Amino acid sequence: MEEVRAKLIQRIKRTSSVESFRFLPEKKIDFIAGQFLQVIFDENNRNNKELNKYLSFSSSPGHDYFEVTKRISESAFSAKLESLKTGDDFLFKASMGACVFKDEYKKIAFLIGGIGITPVISIIEYITGNKINTDVMLFYSNRNEEDIAFKTELDKWRENNLNIKVFYTVTDCQPVNKECIFGRIDKDLLLNKIPDIKERLFFIFGPPKMVEAMENICVEVSSIKENIKTESFIGY
Ligand SMILES: Cc1cc2nc3c(=O)[nH]c(=O)nc-3n(C[C@H](O)[C@H](O)[C@H](O)COP(=O)(O)OP(=O)(O)OC[C@H]3O[C@@H](n4cnc5c(N)ncnc54)[C@H](O)[C@@H]3O)c2cc1C
Repeated sequence: MEEVRAKLIQRIKRTSSVESFRFLPEKKIDFIAGQFLQVIFDENNRNNKELNKYLSFSSSPGHDYFEVTKRISESAFSAKLESLKTGDDFLFKASMGACVFKDEYKKIAFLIGGIGITPVISIIEYITGNKINTDVMLFYSNRNEEDIAFKTELDKWRENNLNIKVFYTVTDCQPVNKECIFGRIDKDLLLNKIPDIKERLFFIFGPPKMVEAMENICVEVSSIKENIKTESFIGY
């Protein structure tokens, strides 16, 4: 793991409260799809948890740039990120995390709520970009349709690759779009949609409560603990 500086090159609004930031690192960094980095805004105090936070890569390895995506809140960290202008630089530490995609996985499923989508984007972009023959099922839950970050990218990837299936669920109100499912990701939904459930490797990323809930459902339906990989976004 090393500390590297990077310059902001682009900001992309994903939803009203979610934004992506693309950076050019001063030297190439190695990471595996699914990993995360630590942003170090307080270089004088590495233990400052308010200003030094973890964010997953939301772009695949192999680009000159890397991308992170943050749900923007009222916090000092969000304010600092939001204040960055093109050309501004910051320090980060990378790469971390063992919840990663390996090319040999043939059938995978993601159980995701909200901002947990970020490493999934890195993984699916990696799979499609490298034409990897992996069958992907994504179950992606949000409060409402406006909150679905990366929908354009996900829709495009599944249109171009029959091995990618995406199921959107919304929990707070009946969706307008007929393909969106109303309700939470639950046992019945998974049993209904995944015929080969015991053959799949499950990835669960997101806030700790969501990860715990999804892991419980996953154990209930597939009952093979070794087939479940999780990463909790501690700090939510
Ligand atoms: C491996 C990993 C990957 C992550 N990837 C992403 C990502 O891709 N995108 C993203 O937006 N976030 C990600 N996070 C979470 C991120 O690091 C921040 O914690 C989160 O974005 C909230 O930051 P904030 O400044 O908006 O929080 P705040 O608004 O300060 O806090 C949000 C809530 O969390 C509580 N909280 C804050 N810090 C802690 C803490 N240390 N322990 C327990 N509760 C706390 C607060 O009380 C508040 O209720 C990741 C975290 C980890 C560990």
